[in-house]
Amino acid sequence: MTAIGIDLGTTYSAMATVMENSTPQIIKNCDGDSITPSVVYIPADGEPIVGSEAKEFQAVGESEVASFFKREMGNPDFFLTFHDRKYTPVELSAQVLKKLKRDAEAQLKQPVDAAVITVPAYFNNSQRNDTITAAEMAGLKVLRIINEPTAAAIAYGLSGRSKGTEQTTMVYDLGGGTFDVSIVRTSGNEITVLASDGDHKLGGKDWDDRVAVYLACEFKKEFGDDPFEDMESFNDLLVSCENAKRELSERESTKVKIAYNGQVGRYTLTREKFEELTQDLLERTKNISQLVLNSVPGLTWEKLDGILLVGGSTRMPMVAGFVEKMTGKPPVRGVNVDEAVALGAALQAASDLREKGEFSIEGTQAKEAFTLPAIRDVTCHSLGMVAENQDRSKYLNSIIIPKNSQIPAENACDYVIRISARRPEVNKLEVYMLQGESVDSPLECLLLGKYVFTGFVPVPQGKAQVRVHYAYNKNGTVDVRAEQTNAPGGSINLQLQIEPVPEDMSWLTRSPKENTMNQQSIPSALVIAVDASGSMEGRRMKEARNAANALVEKLDLQQIHVGIMVFSDQMEALAPCSDDRRIVCDAIAKLRIGWGYGNDASPFTHAMEMMQYEEGEKFIVVLTDGYWQCTDLAIRQAAQAKAEGAEIIAIGIGDADHRFLKKVATCDENALMTDLSKLVESFSTIAQVLSAGNASGADLVVPDTGTPKRKGFFSKLFG
Ligand code: AMP
Repeated sequence: MTAIGIDLGTTYSAMATVMENSTPQIIKNCDGDSITPSVVYIPADGEPIVGSEAKEFQAVGESEVASFFKREMGNPDFFLTFHDRKYTPVELSAQVLKKLKRDAEAQLKQPVDAAVITVPAYFNNSQRNDTITAAEMAGLKVLRIINEPTAAAIAYGLSGRSKGTEQTTMVYDLGGGTFDVSIVRTSGNEITVLASDGDHKLGGKDWDDRVAVYLACEFKKEFGDDPFEDMESFNDLLVSCENAKRELSERESTKVKIAYNGQVGRYTLTREKFEELTQDLLERTKNISQLVLNSVPGLTWEKLDGILLVGGSTRMPMVAGFVEKMTGKPPVRGVNVDEAVALGAALQAASDLREKGEFSIEGTQAKEAFTLPAIRDVTCHSLGMVAENQDRSKYLNSIIIPKNSQIPAENACDYVIRISARRPEVNKLEVYMLQGESVDSPLECLLLGKYVFTGFVPVPQGKAQVRVHYAYNKNGTVDVRAEQTNAPGGSINLQLQIEPVPEDMSWLTRSPKENTMNQQSIPSALVIAVDASGSMEGRRMKEARNAANALVEKLDLQQIHVGIMVFSDQMEALAPCSDDRRIVCDAIAKLRIGWGYGNDASPFTHAMEMMQYEEGEKFIVVLTDGYWQCTDLAIRQAAQAKAEGAEIIAIGIGDADHRFLKKVATCDENALMTDLSKLVESFSTIAQVLSAGNASGADLVVPDTGTPKRKGFFSKLFG
C-alpha cells in the first residue's frame, strides 16, 4: 500500500511522502508547484479542472469556479450550482483530492491508495466525516484524520528539539480560511496536545475581503459604480487583492488596478493602511489564543517556551509582530509555513503503514525503521447529550466528554429507564448527541445525531439500567453505543438505529414535563389507602371522600390508574387499579368506616398487590387520623414496598403521629400533617405533582444521578 500525507487546505492544498532516509518531502503537483490551489473549475463539458488553471479561470472572471468550499464542510444545506447541477462541498473537496492523488501517482510512479488527511483541530464530527467521505469519493482510503497544528508539530520535530526537557509550545496556525491554535507539550519522544481551539471562519481570505471592500469603496467614490455588483469584476478584484496582500509581505506598498464598466481605477495600498484595515482580525486570533492558554492550568505567556507559526497567512509581517507583542517573545522559525502540515501528515502516514506492516513503495518511502513520537491529541469540542435537569423543568446539555480531553476518549454514563414487558414497542432510549460547550442551551450546540436504542430485556419492576458509551476515536469522530447492564443473563448490547435528526427540535425549548404529557407513556399507578377506623367517622371521612375526589378529578386516568382501598383492623380493595373514572368515583363514594375499629393492619403490602400488574411508576397515598397498633409491621411493609420501587406519601389528620408517618413515607417531605380543612388542598397538590411527573418510557435524566428524584410532594407548597 502506498500512502501519502495530504493537507487539504481552504485556499491551497499540499501533499507529501516520506523518503528512503526517513525524511518527509513535499510531492510537487504536475505543474511543478509544491502547493495546489483548492479551486475547482466546472466546464460545461468534460472533467472538472482543479488547481492553478482553475484559479486562472477565476482570475479572468469565469463564474463556474468554486473556492473556499472547505468552510462549508459539514453544512448539509450548502451547495453550488454549475450548469444546472448542484455540487456539495464534499464533492468539490473530492475533486481536489482526486487531482492530488493523480499528481502524486504521476510523481511517485505508483498507485496511491491511502492517505492521512489533516483537518483544522476545531473541525467537528460532521466536518471530519465529510472529509473522510470526500477522500473515499476520490478513491483514497483514510488511514486517519489528524489535526493540522498537531501535524505541524510533528513536522517541526518539536519532540526531537526539546532534547529530553519538557517544552510547551503554542502552534498558531493561520491559513487561508481557518485559524487554529494548539498548545503542545513535548518531552523526549512524546507530543501531547494540551488544548486546542479555533475559528473556522477566520483566515487569509478575510484579509483579502477587507482590502477588496476598501478598494471597491474607493472605486465607487471615484466613478460612482460598485465593482461588487458584477460577479466577474468581484472575482477579479478578490484575486488582485490577494496578490496585493502577498506583495505587502515583501514591500511597504503596492498598486492595485480595478477595471469595471469601462473605467479603470489605480490605487496605491500601503502596508500601514493594510494593517489598519485588518487589525481587528488579528485581535480575534489573540482572543482565541488567550482562551486556549487559559484553559491549561497554570500556563502563562511567560511560561510558554515558544510560538510556532504555521499557515500561509503567518507570512504577513503583521502576524509575527503581533505574536511577539502578545506573547513577549519572537516566534519560532525554521518551518516552511505552507508545507509543515503536509509533511507532518506524511510522517504519520508512514508510521501508520509501518505499524500495519504494510511497507510502501521501494525507493520513495522510508525503508529504515523510524519512530514517530507518541502523539496525544485532544478533543476540541465537548461531547454531551440532551438530558433533563433534576426537577424536569428544562433540557440541558449534559457534557460527557469535556473539551480538551485526550483522544481517543471514552466515557460512559448510567441511566435508569422504565420499560414495559407487555408493550415492548415503547421500550426505546433516544440519545440526542450534542457537540459544543453550552450547557444550558442544547440548541446552541451542534446536534450530531439521534441514536435510538432498542432490544431491552424485561426486568423485574420494569426498570432497565442502561449504560451509554461515548467515544471520540483517533480521527476525532464520534461513536456511541449502549448496553442494558441489568439484563437477567448479564449485560447485553442494545441495538442501535441512527435516525435523522428531526428538523423541528423546538421541543427542547419546552419543559420535559410539558413534553411528556403529550407523549404516549407507560401509565403510573396510584392506590389511595384511607384509614377506616372508628375515629374517622363523620366529618373526617366526608373530607377524605372530598379529598380523594379532588385528587382523582385532576388526574388523567389514562396516565395514572387509580385504586381505592380502606384499612383498619381489616383491609378491603374498594376498586382495583383502573382507568375507568366511574369505577374509581363509585369506590370513593363507598368510603366509610366499618372495617374494624383500630389500626392493626398495614395497607402497604395490600396496596402493592393491587398494583402488581401495573408497569409504570407506583404510588401509595395513605391517609390516617390516629396511632397504629403494629407500627413495626407497617414500617417493615412500607420499606418492602419502597424497595420494590413504590413511592409512599403519608398524610395525617387528627391524632396521627407525624414521626411515624415520616418513617413510612419515602422521604420526610412526603409525610404531611394537615388540618382537616386543608385536606382537599393537600390531595390536589398530590394530583399536580403526579401529573407533572408522569414519565415516558424513555426519559433520559442528568447522568450520574440515576432517575430524577422529586424533592418531595409537599416541598414546594407546604415544605
Ligand atoms: P494555507 O491555507 O496555509 O495554504 O494559507 C493560504 C493563505 O496564506 C492564503 O490566504 C494566502 O493568501 C496566504 N498567503 C500565502 N502566502 C502569503 C504571503 N506571502 N503573504 C501573505 N499571505 C500569504
